[in-house]
Amino acid sequence: MIINISELINRYRSSKYFEFHLKPEKISDEYLTVLTPVKVKGNISLVNDELIVEIRAEFSAELNCSRCTSEFTKDFDIAFTEALDLNDNQESIEEHLDLTELIRDNILVNMPIKPICSDDCRGLCPVCGTNKNTNDCNCESEQFDPRLSVLSNLLNEDE
Ligand SMILES: [Zn+2]
Ligand SMILES: [Zn+2]
Repeated sequence: MIINISELINRYRSSKYFEFHLKPEKISDEYLTVLTPVKVKGNISLVNDELIVEIRAEFSAELNCSRCTSEFTKDFDIAFTEALDLNDNQESIEEHLDLTELIRDNILVNMPIKPICSDDCRGLCPVCGTNKNTNDCNCESEQFDPRLSVLSNLLNEDE
């Protein structure tokens, strides 16, 4: 999204409020699937020769649980501030400032490295790979109750 900052650069005013939606595909990549438009609100102000960009971005994304590998949806509300030096960025900061990449970078660094679908996710059985949130498997009962494992051996012999 491109913001016109000519009034700031020309010092007609000292700050500018903005609000817009970014399409999910502008942010999504191979590691992140954004499901909703990203609601962006923010403010740009010129302080000496620096543009101070304050942004808040709200959206939902699909993540893969690092314990049970299932996909789940999580809501995010990310706030960040960036300072852009007008003198350092002569070629990129003109009268129009494109915020998409800035927002994208900040969203990506704020994504959890090991997302977990819920705090009490039970993960996958290390023996058979069953998702223990949805199914119980026999490996688990063998570990906790030897009597059940004897029973399951007997059942297997009957077959
Ligand atoms: Zn999980
Ligand atoms: Zn198992």
